[in-house]
Amino acid sequence: MFTVSVKFLFFLFSAVLVGIVLFFRLRGEKSRSSSRPAPTVQETIRCPICGNVYAATPQDGMTTCPLCESINRVDDEPSRGLPPLV
Ligand SMILES: [Zn+2]
Repeated sequence: MFTVSVKFLFFLFSAVLVGIVLFFRLRGEKSRSSSRPAPTVQETIRCPICGNVYAATPQDGMTTCPLCESINRVDDEPSRGLPPLV
């Protein structure tokens, strides 16, 4: 007949405990890394080079004009939040 020793039970219990701890730790790291919000705030920017007004999501405070491809800083006063030229 199959006999179970105390050592075997202790080993089994320890293995299950370590598995549960690892499972929750990995799950916590995954949810923490995926919960960071992506920068999706769009700003209206007027290109100081060609005057084109475009909406862009700044990355490190910089955007690229779709027309002349110049790189513009978002915090430049002349290029920020101006109404269209029309
Ligand atoms: Zn431009």
